[in-house]
Amino acid sequence: MNAQVQKPFEEILGYLEGKKRIVLMGCGGCATVFHTGGIEDIDEMAKRLTKEGKVVTGKIGLPFAVFACYLPMSSMFLKEHEKEIEECDAILMQSCGDGAQVVRAYLDEEMGIVKPMYPANNALGFSGGGPASFREECQACGECELGRMAGICPLVQCPKGLLNGPCGGTNTDGKCELDPTRDCAWVMIYKRLEKLGQLSELEEIVGPHDWSKQVRPRSLEVEPIDLMEKLKETKKVIEHLGV
Ligand code: SF4
Ligand code: SF4
Repeated sequence: MNAQVQKPFEEILGYLEGKKRIVLMGCGGCATVFHTGGIEDIDEMAKRLTKEGKVVTGKIGLPFAVFACYLPMSSMFLKEHEKEIEECDAILMQSCGDGAQVVRAYLDEEMGIVKPMYPANNALGFSGGGPASFREECQACGECELGRMAGICPLVQCPKGLLNGPCGGTNTDGKCELDPTRDCAWVMIYKRLEKLGQLSELEEIVGPHDWSKQVRPRSLEVEPIDLMEKLKETKKVIEHLGV
């Protein structure tokens, strides 16, 4: 998931200075899980902005599991709210920067509506876990090393991103020299390889990481999924849960 927190309200108000009619748009994916862009979060933002003299002319709340960044679904909501978007002074995006830019580009290029758009949130990157605690595990480097590292990512878990053993500064209690509250990534990797009976893997020198895969922006072409078929599967889960 793309972890995120809401920006300080003063910063949001600063963006909206001189803008009266505001459309709010959220996201039914990560932003709902992190309480930064779910339907309730949009309602809350609308109340706060109204108190500050803004007129919220549109609230584009996406139901859970409808991602702002996935246009086959989010574009339906944009079209439904076309009039409010056309008539507003600004759009406040309560999503991550990915969702915000996908929506901005769709409005610009597909719907021909060019409006100022501002972010309500700060995205913090991939984090897994839940329902309450999340932890960053992967920085999407494009060349996964987990297979050579006992399933523990040294690029994220080690502040120096070391691929061939610890830096030499590891504390005697196994904590990282740069952050004594956390375990040294290489102590974790060693212990796990030991449990797996694969310590001999440490004898191999790992070649340089291919950083060229991090040249950005990266893009990807895939075969589109059959959305209706996938939704049928989701429907089964919903029915199973008795919703
Ligand atoms: S090596 Fe680490 S950052 Fe790269 S893809 Fe694997 S888990 Fe993600
Ligand atoms: S102590 Fe371990 S986790 Fe910390 S920087 Fe050195 S090798 Fe990386």
